[in-house]
Amino acid sequence: MTSGNGKPAYWKPEEETLARTALEALQLDRLKKTVGRVFDAVPFYRKKFEDAKVKPDDVRGLADLARLPFTTGADLRSIYPTGMLAVPLDEAMRLHTSSGTTGKPKALFFSRRDVDNAAELCARSMVATGVTRQDIFQNMMTYGLFTGAFVMHYGAEKIGALVIPAGPGNTERQLMLMQDFRTTTIHITPSFALYFADFLEKKGLDPRKELNLKRAFVGAEPYTEATRRKIEEGLGLRVFNSYGLSEMNGPGVAFECQEQAGMHLWEDHYVMEIINPETGQALPDGESGELVLTTLLREAMPIIRYRTRDITSIVAAPCACGRTHRRIQRITGRADDMLIVRGVNIYPQQIERVLMSVPKVGRNYLITLDGLDEMTVKVELSEFGFDGQLEHVVELQNQIAAQLRAEILIKPKIDLVPPGTLPISEGKAKRVIDNRKL
Ligand SMILES: [Zn+2]
Repeated sequence: MTSGNGKPAYWKPEEETLARTALEALQLDRLKKTVGRVFDAVPFYRKKFEDAKVKPDDVRGLADLARLPFTTGADLRSIYPTGMLAVPLDEAMRLHTSSGTTGKPKALFFSRRDVDNAAELCARSMVATGVTRQDIFQNMMTYGLFTGAFVMHYGAEKIGALVIPAGPGNTERQLMLMQDFRTTTIHITPSFALYFADFLEKKGLDPRKELNLKRAFVGAEPYTEATRRKIEEGLGLRVFNSYGLSEMNGPGVAFECQEQAGMHLWEDHYVMEIINPETGQALPDGESGELVLTTLLREAMPIIRYRTRDITSIVAAPCACGRTHRRIQRITGRADDMLIVRGVNIYPQQIERVLMSVPKVGRNYLITLDGLDEMTVKVELSEFGFDGQLEHVVELQNQIAAQLRAEILIKPKIDLVPPGTLPISEGKAKRVIDNRKL
């Protein structure tokens, strides 16, 4: 690891700066092995391949990936609990599950090597943001069946940073830990980060003077660039965008470097594709669509062409940091979160982006859909800079409605409410209530 001499720090430079041709050759070699293994060891995949009339030998180049069948979240639920294991159960060392909305979750198994690789990728990711063994890492994500906290925990330990496994919630205790142990680095959801910033503001505590925070890893929910700036301002640190999903080991699939310009997706461990979520057809670099991932080194549970449902695009241009792994843009929505209102496809994040660009508006909002496609956006006024006069409220409501119309093509009803009146969340925020009877 190099650092402190002005050069970008790498965890393992030979892996992170591998020439594209060598990286793609490595991907192909690992892809062939993965495809062969799942065909031999996982009846679920053998059948899928047979149904699609493809054999492992058909994969001769990376482009042949497109011939293989997709794996969906529904597939993972259908083979619950152990139907996709590629090793005997006694070689599995850890179990995580995905956060399922209804019914059975997805069970995800890790072998010893999978646990180590997951930590390795998190160490690589954290070093890319400037973390060293001198850092104090307060992990404010949920420890439990969810992968979010554990994988980063082990990554930070690999680097040799001091890890504080704080978990989420309990803002007073979080603050005490930050003050007493001079925390430099936090791992947090965007909604909790915004909530925490509000909490500091209410306490009249200036994080730049009274805390030692340098950076936050923010992930687990999509958020906008404007939200990033609000968190950076409110907590006095730099926010690095983190992407991962339990199906792919958890965090550390893709991560921002010091350039903060898209997340390097670690292509020696995953092959990425962007597809049109409706047709399944591949889209060219730069176009927005659903991210599809294939694992290259997972041992216990390899997954072929997983439909993540996350909407993003590939940044193919080289990054100034010298890493050769291509980047993805921040996630702009979930294919599943897409709302169809009066025939228009709308992602809640589009609404958030507009709201966060209005200075007199606070950080909390709620979208409600009623009757036949009537949309109301409730949003809190900012605690500062608004006099509350009725004509000013109406003016601001009209301004927001017009800006939203320009972004989402329909004009919702805007309901400005006093600061602190919408339900708050210390975990994942619920932003949409759909009461429509369609
Ligand atoms: Zn970079």
